[in-house]
Amino acid sequence: MTRRSIHSRKHEDQMTLRDELDLLRDADERAQRYIEGIGSRPVFPAAESIDALAAFSEPLPEEGHDAASTVALLDEVGSPAAVESNGARYFGFVTGATLPVAAAADRIALAWDNSASDPSGTPGVGAIEQTAADWVLEILDLPRDAAVGFTTSSGSGTVVALATARKTLLARQGWDFDRLGADGAPKVRIVASELAHVVVRKAVRVLGFGLDRVEWVPTDEYGRIRNDQVPALDGSTILILQAGEVNTGEFDDFDALIALAEAVGAWVHVDGAFGLWARATKHKAVTAGIERADSWAVDGHKWLNTPYDSAMLIVRDRQALASTMFAGAVYAPTTDDAQENLTLEFSRRGRGVPVWAALRTLGRSGVASLVEGSMDLASAAADGLRAAGFDVLNRVVLNQVLVAAEDEATTGRIVAAAQASGRTWFGSTVWRGRKAFRISVSSWRTTRAEIDDLVALLSELRAGSTTSE
Ligand SMILES: *Cc1c(COP(=O)(O)O)cnc(C)c1O
Repeated sequence: MTRRSIHSRKHEDQMTLRDELDLLRDADERAQRYIEGIGSRPVFPAAESIDALAAFSEPLPEEGHDAASTVALLDEVGSPAAVESNGARYFGFVTGATLPVAAAADRIALAWDNSASDPSGTPGVGAIEQTAADWVLEILDLPRDAAVGFTTSSGSGTVVALATARKTLLARQGWDFDRLGADGAPKVRIVASELAHVVVRKAVRVLGFGLDRVEWVPTDEYGRIRNDQVPALDGSTILILQAGEVNTGEFDDFDALIALAEAVGAWVHVDGAFGLWARATKHKAVTAGIERADSWAVDGHKWLNTPYDSAMLIVRDRQALASTMFAGAVYAPTTDDAQENLTLEFSRRGRGVPVWAALRTLGRSGVASLVEGSMDLASAAADGLRAAGFDVLNRVVLNQVLVAAEDEATTGRIVAAAQASGRTWFGSTVWRGRKAFRISVSSWRTTRAEIDDLVALLSELRAGSTTSE
């Protein structure tokens, strides 16, 4: 096989098959060394490693460098500056690590480099994603004939969900959104929790609903929508509920709130970025009624521990989603099984492949133990921190632990010292006006040992903080 030169400098210098394989092997060995080193590097990179990143600020080369040197630079300078979120001691946001099988599957899909736009063009990816979609509906116990779009994130899924909801609600009033747009359209209301995640606010803004036009609903002490504060809904309302509030991990009262929406034909969207996975566990009852919503966004890259970018947008009315995201002329007949008609992307990688690999390898019991295991460890962290004199500000119904020390200054010092220690990483937050920090347990790698270390470290830091005053 003749191989085309990819080097502008030396046209005779072709990349042979052997070169290609050597390069991939080198990259893979470097990736393996990174994985081997998990647990031995600082969780957040040291200042020297961050300073060394200046090596990437090269001028755009006129003539390319050789590929091996590019891979070497990436690893030698990039790896020491990587944050060890694919580890056991990282508790920031709700990040999740990557299951080995999901990473391995992604490597193979990368070799295929197939676009998953349409199964007729790429039957392999199409078949795998179809199974992944079926399994996602089954394990989350959502309507089996719902449409599943493999999105980059819950955030992008939320944009798609709200666009679908608006088009559908307007169509019921005889307004063709695709042809007529938003200008002059009947009003579509948004009712959402005052604690809605930032990606919900972003979706509301970019879709032109206007943040000030949203009817924000107050929440109770746990962070759940107060049912008695929900305004009267109607058939032109999108009600956005949460499964897993990001600070407290709490769930809205789906049964009661969805009943209100059903009675008047409002659309219910659920932000279930991580909390929806509670459906796959023995704690499923906390989500009772959620299956009666119209759309759900859920991440793979958080709690299922698939690599970025991995999420699913699920819409009960397949045709509603397919006609909203249809990639052809807006008034042409739609096909509702091609991913290009279910997500924002026209071309994209086989993002469902690692989801399939994770579900096949974990099975129902493995997903349950991943999620329940995180929940148990979160409870253990809460108990340990309480015993060490911290205030735990939430009920720890899921995997999020919201913590504060006796005063803001101490909390701030402890967070800064913990982040600088290299032994862990988590972020700070504000809960009901009080400065706090948040421990999110969502990595398959985390065990009781890391939780005990975390509690020990934070106790030491708190003692140190106290005595230094
Ligand atoms: C992380 C998160 C999101 C956003 O998910 P992305 O995949 O990062 O876009 C939305 N809602 C909640 C509750 C989250 O925790």
